[in-house]
Amino acid sequence: MVAGFLLLTASLALQWWPGAWVALFIGLTISVGFWRLHSDVERERHRWQRMLDAMQTAVVVWDRDDRLLYANADFRRVYGLTEADLPTGISFEALLRNRVQAGAVPQAKGREEAWIAERLGQHLALAGDTMLRQMPDGSWRRISEQRLVNGNLLSYSVDVTDLIEREQDLAQARAEAERAHRQLRDAIEAMPAGIEIYDENDRLVVHNRQLAGMYPHVAELMTQGLSFEAMVRRSLELGLLPQASGQDEAWLAQRLATRGNARAPLLQQLADGRWLQVYESRGSNGCIIGVRLDVSELIQQREAAAQAQRLLHDAIEAMPAAVEIYDADDRLTLFNRRMLDLYPYFDAATLPGTPFEGLVRLSLARGLLPEARGREETWFAERMAAHRRGHDEPRLQQAADGSWIHIYETRIGSGGIVVVRLDVSEAIRQRSAEQAARRLLDDALDALPDGFALYDADDRLVLCNRRYREIYRESAPALAPGASFESLLRYGLERGQYPQAAADPEAWIAQRLRQHREPGGDPILQQLPGGRWLRIHEQRTRDGGLAGVRADVTDLMQARQAAETARAEAQTAAASLREANAALETLSITDALTGVANRRRFDQRLHEEMQRVRRYDAPLSLLLIDIDHFKRYNDRHGHPQGDRALQGVADMLAQQSRRPGELVARYGGEEFAILLPHADAKAGLAVAQRCQDEMARLALPHGDPQAGAHVTLSIGVAQWSGSPHEDAAALLKRADEALYAAKGAGRARSMLAPMKD
Ligand code: GH3
Ligand code: MG
Ligand code: MG
Repeated sequence: MVAGFLLLTASLALQWWPGAWVALFIGLTISVGFWRLHSDVERERHRWQRMLDAMQTAVVVWDRDDRLLYANADFRRVYGLTEADLPTGISFEALLRNRVQAGAVPQAKGREEAWIAERLGQHLALAGDTMLRQMPDGSWRRISEQRLVNGNLLSYSVDVTDLIEREQDLAQARAEAERAHRQLRDAIEAMPAGIEIYDENDRLVVHNRQLAGMYPHVAELMTQGLSFEAMVRRSLELGLLPQASGQDEAWLAQRLATRGNARAPLLQQLADGRWLQVYESRGSNGCIIGVRLDVSELIQQREAAAQAQRLLHDAIEAMPAAVEIYDADDRLTLFNRRMLDLYPYFDAATLPGTPFEGLVRLSLARGLLPEARGREETWFAERMAAHRRGHDEPRLQQAADGSWIHIYETRIGSGGIVVVRLDVSEAIRQRSAEQAARRLLDDALDALPDGFALYDADDRLVLCNRRYREIYRESAPALAPGASFESLLRYGLERGQYPQAAADPEAWIAQRLRQHREPGGDPILQQLPGGRWLRIHEQRTRDGGLAGVRADVTDLMQARQAAETARAEAQTAAASLREANAALETLSITDALTGVANRRRFDQRLHEEMQRVRRYDAPLSLLLIDIDHFKRYNDRHGHPQGDRALQGVADMLAQQSRRPGELVARYGGEEFAILLPHADAKAGLAVAQRCQDEMARLALPHGDPQAGAHVTLSIGVAQWSGSPHEDAAALLKRADEALYAAKGAGRARSMLAPMKD
């Protein structure tokens, strides 16, 4: 900049110098010319005039009395004058006045006399000097006047408009340069870095405040002109450059040797622990521009990053799986020891940076990937495609030693891929054992004659055997593990599998679910289409699931139904038999004609009552009743009428035996007997009397003159008090004797048999 300014100044000076030379040349030429005019001939004067008229310089010569001697064509042109305006001998003042009066001097307007005086003053003062004047047309002229040796005054002027304009341009350029300089300084100050510029002699030209702040101990030294070396020495003296570490001279020499030539930026630590990154470059004019950046934070971050990297490394090393991390270019950047355990033929030293592809090829080339054998290239292409995709589902790969490895490949944010390899051989062995056990279980379950199903704690089907699927033929397509019990019920229901649900499907489902959720009650009988029947037994498993067994009990159910039918039939038969027996029994102890007890019944009861008398010591009475003259009745009314009369008498007698235990029986022919337990002779006679009274009330007409008007009865009454000497026959005989006595006494009466001990 300074150089530029100097250059501009110099060139401006050079612009002026030729003009001075021209002025001098013209002056000399004109002086010589006029000297010759004065001393020589008139024709020479014309020749000079033509020469001067050809010049681009306005020339005018005044004599010592200030009267016009000569003015050339350019003078006339510049001032707009004709030859008539310039008669030889006109005084300078007269010419001025003419011009002012003609209005050719605009700046004199209104102050003509003053202007004339001023201009005259300049004219007189100007001799031997120059002045710059702006012409009315805006152009600039430099006017020079010189007193010649003969006393004449030579005045000449040249157009310097160009020069003036260039000077103005230069001034403007200088202002702009200064402004640019200021802006540069501001920019340098505003930079977030320390900036310093040294000249070609390595002396400080400019630096910013940031730079001074980086070296506070030597900031005072930093003035324009300070040599770089002096500043470094001062810093070394103050111990501000720990990197010199005592070898100050050697360090300084090295520092100066590489100054401005260092290929890479320099990292410099300061005494306060800060780190600077120093960029130095040499400009084309030999100056050195230094830029210093405070990178302490970056260095700290780098250290933190390095520590994070170490942590990551340790973490990966501690993982129970083989871990590899590939960068965005798929090159291995990080891996752990377990990876080398899995792939012992990898060379740990050359692994970093190896592309994944290269590692796979290495294993392929060694033939260590059993699944790739025989189709290496296809396998390789598939493997690479899967790797690039990144898949969360583990990939199962067998290693050459037979071990099984799960490979997880996940794409990470930076575009890299993390590969995790886990040896799952043990798990796979266990799984195959489990699968074998499961097959055994399946076989065993399928061999069961009953249907079997297992539901988990969420009531979802875990497994069922073949028989179960056969039994539930309609639901079979839905019997997949995971299906809920209720969904299976509904599936079967929609396909008519449960005839019992026909009346109210929802109620049936609700009941079935209830039974299913609270198993262990009575076995459930379930009907299937086609008259088949199942017995369901459900039981909770230890883990909250439910095991269900379905036995086909169609045969049993049919047998049971048959048995029930048979039993019902047998019951009906038994009832009929009982009725028949009862009828028979009734028949066997009843007199067919009259409906009262027959003689057999009477004998049986008499025997029982006599036993009772002996037990309870309570007497019984026996009435023997014979219809009087019944032979004659038959004879007169016929036998059927006689039967009806017998029935009438029997009914009447039956009504007289009111107390429990009393018995009326037909004893034979037209004879009846009444057995009165717990009745003595008196009570017996009372009953006999009631019978006589009732008979009289019946008033059955007899019709035979030998007999009375109505049918009458003869009654023999005997009391028995348990005499050990009298049996039933003897008692009957005694009662019969009393009856016979009544007959003998005229009939239609009752007679008490004499008491017997
Ligand atoms: P008495 O007053 O002496 O008893 O005279 P009686 O005629 O009743 O005596 P007897 O005992 O000799 O006669 C019984 C008669 O009863 C004989 C028979 O015709 C009649 N008799 C017996 N059993 C039946 C019977 O079942 N139906 C009818 N209609 N008559 C019968
Ligand atoms: Mg009789
Ligand atoms: Mg009789």
